[in-house]
Amino acid sequence: MVSDTHRDQPRTIARGRWHPARSSRSEPAALLLLGRSIMVRLEARPGDPAAINELGAVKVSNRVGRIPRRVQFADGSLFETPDNDAIDALFRGQRGHRSGWVHEFERFHPRLLAAVVGVVLLAGLVYRYALPAMVEVAVVVTPPAATRALAAGTLASLDQAVFSPSELPEQQQETIESRFKAMASHAERGADGYNLNFRKGGVIGPNAFALPDGTLVLTDELVELAGTDEDAILGVLAHEIGHVDEEHSLRQLYRAAGTAGLIMLVAGDIGSAGEEILTNGALLLTLSYSRTAESEADRISVDLMAKSGNDPAAIGRFFALLQEKFELGDEASMLSTHPGVGDRRRQIETWVEELK
Ligand SMILES: [Zn+2]
Repeated sequence: MVSDTHRDQPRTIARGRWHPARSSRSEPAALLLLGRSIMVRLEARPGDPAAINELGAVKVSNRVGRIPRRVQFADGSLFETPDNDAIDALFRGQRGHRSGWVHEFERFHPRLLAAVVGVVLLAGLVYRYALPAMVEVAVVVTPPAATRALAAGTLASLDQAVFSPSELPEQQQETIESRFKAMASHAERGADGYNLNFRKGGVIGPNAFALPDGTLVLTDELVELAGTDEDAILGVLAHEIGHVDEEHSLRQLYRAAGTAGLIMLVAGDIGSAGEEILTNGALLLTLSYSRTAESEADRISVDLMAKSGNDPAAIGRFFALLQEKFELGDEASMLSTHPGVGDRRRQIETWVEELK
């Protein structure tokens, strides 16, 4: 009775993830077909199906590019898979049955396509003309409390995932801190407007970065790289002050959020991965500044160092150290956050010359 056994064995249609109804949880699962029934089997618990329906009773999202397809069960749970072809093949086999939505989908296909093209064009226009303006407005209206909460959340998640406490001698931390304060007193927000934190950088190595509320982080590795050239450290911190004063990180964040919003507009849904990225403050660190932003921060470093009686060329010396240490060519970058070191050194030298 080969054919009977065959009929009793569910056939795997596609692999993907299952999202229970009204839950942000998701689990690896497979979509299976047995006769006219479609079901989801969890990889972790292959026993009873997590969801089961008649094939005609589930709803399937339309195919739009490579966006994962969603099969919605009557209980509200969802199966999501990137395997568009398998889903199409499954429901193509249903043609002529009472699955009316398949016909509807095919009938309206040209109109759907036109709608998608229209939305993409609109999104392109918004991205080109409206987004930059919206970002500027958002930066201006963001309350300081929100910026502080964002910064605190970011630092906390980095402390958990990346950093460990600084191992620099206390004496050295105090020296850097007091020179930093003296320099910051000449900056836009004054000495109390910035807050310097020491951390052991781990995977991010020699680095420094600024959060939008004026929180600065300096890694032990950067201090070690600078060695006896304490001015180089100060030059880097002046550069980070530049990022704070120009609100670069907030602007980058809004730009990324705006782009995600556009994706949502086009795709109908950003997906759980997107939500995670947007709600995690550590996103800030993965955003790289534009060349223009880096150049503005370099300029502020040169000016602020000069104004506070320090060596304005120090940030350039730090870039030289980086190039040496990592044997970088002119076009390479330390981290993607600091692109084009060679060009920037030449520009810094020009600015320093102008100060003389
Ligand atoms: Zn920078």
